[in-house]
Amino acid sequence: MAVTTFEEATSPKAVQTNGKAAAANASGAAVVPADGYTLGGPHKNDFFERATNLLSDYHKNSYDGSKPVIALRSPKEIENEFVKAGVPLSLTDGAPVDEAAILTAMEKTLELGVRMNHPLFLNQLTAGINSIGLAGEWLIGATNTNAHTYEVAPVFTMCERFCIDKAARMWLGTPAGIATPSHDGLFTPGGSFSNMYGFLMARFKAIPDIKTKGMFGCGRQLVAFCSADAHYSSNKSAQVVGLGSDNLRKVKVNKNGEMCVESLKAEIAKAVERNELPFLVVATAGSTVLGAFDPIDAIADVCKEHKMWMHVDAAWGGGTLLSPKLRGELMKGVERADSLTWNPHKMMNVPLSCSMFICKYEGMLKECNGTSASYLFQPDKLYSKYDVGDKTIQCGRKPDAYKLWLVWKNTGDAGWRSHIEHAYHLTRYTQKKIEASSNFVMVIDNQCTNVCFWYLPKSMRHINPHTATEEELRKLGAVAPKLKARLQQAGGAMIGFQPLPSHNIVNFWRVVFAGADGLTEKIVDEILESFETLGHDL
Ligand SMILES: *Cc1c(COP(=O)(O)O)cnc(C)c1O
Repeated sequence: MAVTTFEEATSPKAVQTNGKAAAANASGAAVVPADGYTLGGPHKNDFFERATNLLSDYHKNSYDGSKPVIALRSPKEIENEFVKAGVPLSLTDGAPVDEAAILTAMEKTLELGVRMNHPLFLNQLTAGINSIGLAGEWLIGATNTNAHTYEVAPVFTMCERFCIDKAARMWLGTPAGIATPSHDGLFTPGGSFSNMYGFLMARFKAIPDIKTKGMFGCGRQLVAFCSADAHYSSNKSAQVVGLGSDNLRKVKVNKNGEMCVESLKAEIAKAVERNELPFLVVATAGSTVLGAFDPIDAIADVCKEHKMWMHVDAAWGGGTLLSPKLRGELMKGVERADSLTWNPHKMMNVPLSCSMFICKYEGMLKECNGTSASYLFQPDKLYSKYDVGDKTIQCGRKPDAYKLWLVWKNTGDAGWRSHIEHAYHLTRYTQKKIEASSNFVMVIDNQCTNVCFWYLPKSMRHINPHTATEEELRKLGAVAPKLKARLQQAGGAMIGFQPLPSHNIVNFWRVVFAGADGLTEKIVDEILESFETLGHDL
């Protein structure tokens, strides 16, 4: 058997048999495709033109909504579609295919994938692609530039600097005409990485010789704090940096999902009593599920008192910094933090990945992470002081900043303000519609652009999920997965659901407006109507 199926490839037992099959193939004669290899070109046919046309057509079709969000298929069906198209997904037979087949494979991939750029994709915090940003993504790919040194990435390095400078101004609330206060920052592969930089910097501040002595060097147990609803990446950071997840204390949240500052103080006091060293608080600005904003100003007071590093995880809610009005309402005191995570690939619709870590201390990223590799960061090289690479924990790095730079140039500050305020407007509109209907119940009032609610089918309209019995909750919890399957099969809006065991809440829906440029009140109405059309009989 020459072709590994998806089932086999995902079951360890089968991998063994396929290992044998692959070896048998490897000993066979090499097969050269009739029209030559395509590595590096030049291409005989118009492969490249056709590939780029395919991509731009796909992009247009996905945002105008003319094609469904998803054509749901099982792994087996997807496998069969590729076999029918003459390009099996499995690589085990090792046979090369020609450019025409590659184009077919690309078409199939787009056809069977999910249009995350569709206005009705409301399933995740990354949704919708700004077309200018996509052009930037393609430009980055075309140059294949590595953003580690100025030498190889002069323009990208400069764009990164300007983006970080602009983001720092928004974070610190610097008025026009005033120079940007001292800061440092970089683009990372995602919010999880940006948060980890927060851990690394805080740890470096607490134990300056951590780089050479390691975690045992300081003699005391370091402890960090985040809320029980913080994104799981803080847990991962604790695992990765050697802190250990037990030493990342999860502070209680209130029913809206905001960190309880009194509990934070109590947890810190307990740690001090045990002679541990509290060094970091991660405050969340826009929690992933409920969209909660921790009380940033009050947490800053606590951090100041205990000389702890304060990192704000605004991966999701960072977009609110674009509107002075929303910044004032939701992010009060954010400029008091030591560092911040902000993901333009979420609410700003810059193509994935685009995430920023920013901190207040110029030069500290390099001090914290640098190793001064002499083969790459020669200090006596022309313009080497602009090299970003040694601030990072990577070597090769994509110049993600460039996408944001292009989009920002095109959007402008005023454009961003309306972009974000439109998303907030629709969030509030959705809540109002839900409150006016007997088919839905809000889980909590919205804070970020998350709308969390239950849909009640006809048979359950007497249930109040906030006071329901166990039995009623069990029934209600079973509605969402069934309705989700129907929505997917109908190719309608793609919306996520989840339980929240920490709050004792059964499966509920979360509509997220990650930027909402293609969306209107009318579309929101239609989405809510589709719940009733597809789910009333459940
Ligand atoms: C999405 C998210 C992250 C992680 O960002 P990635 O770019 O997906 O790694 C971190 N924190 C919060 C609050 C998030 O919503």
